Amino acid sequence: MEAKAFPMNGGDGAYSYTKNSHYQRAASYVAKEMIEEAIADKFDVTRLSSSSNTIRIADLGCSVGPNTFITTQNLIESMERKRHSQDCTKMTEFHLFFNDHASNDFNTLFNSLPLGRHYFAAGVPGSFHGRLFPKSSLHFVHSSYALQWLSKVPEDLLDKSSPAWNKGRIHYTNASEQVANAYANQFAKDMEVFLDARADEIAVGGMMVVIMPALPDGVRPSQIMSGLFYDFLEQSVVDMVKTGSISEAEVDSFNLPLYAPTPKVMTQLVQSNGGFSIERMELTDPSSKIVGPLNIPAVVMHLRAGLEGIFTKHFGSEIIDELYERTLDKSAEFSSRLESCCKATQLFLVLKRK
Ligand code: SAH
Repeated sequence: MEAKAFPMNGGDGAYSYTKNSHYQRAASYVAKEMIEEAIADKFDVTRLSSSSNTIRIADLGCSVGPNTFITTQNLIESMERKRHSQDCTKMTEFHLFFNDHASNDFNTLFNSLPLGRHYFAAGVPGSFHGRLFPKSSLHFVHSSYALQWLSKVPEDLLDKSSPAWNKGRIHYTNASEQVANAYANQFAKDMEVFLDARADEIAVGGMMVVIMPALPDGVRPSQIMSGLFYDFLEQSVVDMVKTGSISEAEVDSFNLPLYAPTPKVMTQLVQSNGGFSIERMELTDPSSKIVGPLNIPAVVMHLRAGLEGIFTKHFGSEIIDELYERTLDKSAEFSSRLESCCKATQLFLVLKRK
């Protein structure tokens, strides 16, 4: 049994990820053209597929769809265009591997695979913090909004004798430096394992595109949207301690295993791994393709679809409705604080296997 896996809400009900991930989709859309450019400029379809006429692509942290299908469709169309531009006359086949935790709702994913797709599909269960594929077997890896999930809560946060004990808080956003460091150290360890595994699995010349929330250099965690959201969730949790719905000890022993690195940290981690060259690294605004103001209740529903599992596991399912209602009640304040937030918080990273 896999430890510490908190997949998105499955199925297609009111609180499901499928029904509440359109903002995530809009964020991925921001990266669409950048992915097309990366493939057009730097991905050698002809050479990589030469031995078997097959390009093998993995989407790590695919969830239940539909976002993963939109991305994979774009990847394949971009690769087909590249193949034509390389005057390659041989047919190339595409093998798509959809990866997520074993407890992800793969049934929903498989049942909604697009009809008439031009690729073979396979599900790969397991954590990407470790090997998932044979050596040098992949040509392209994509991962969107998954690497912010730490493999576990840093132990020091739960140790009452440690300066990093995170009493009364659920995240590092407004916590002490020691707490922030414990998170940063865990992220560094996880990235090392992640990059080592991918360096083994990706063939030389193969590419990896990572999209994830990030903290611009020099900006405080409370000045970005995700930090602001954790801050509001934390306030709701603290309010619920006051009214007795949650115990203080339950809050002290709960921390969200989510981390947004700065580009500087990410650069250092990739460089110290040594298996990849950085072809592009850029921060973009994930909301830049959204027309009009953000609908805060929809944002809260999106985050509920993503975080309900982890809250339920620790606090029990009875508290969830109240937790999100209390967070929704703060929508107006959330909205006004969001205005002064830093917007360029989506990291777009293109790596090439050396
Ligand atoms: N890429 C999708 C889903 C993002 S949600 C999209 O853009 O819509 C993040 C997904 O990453 C979740 O489904 C979660 O279960 C998965 N995930 C988090 N940590 C993981 C890990 N260590 N291994 C595999 N999947 C993981």
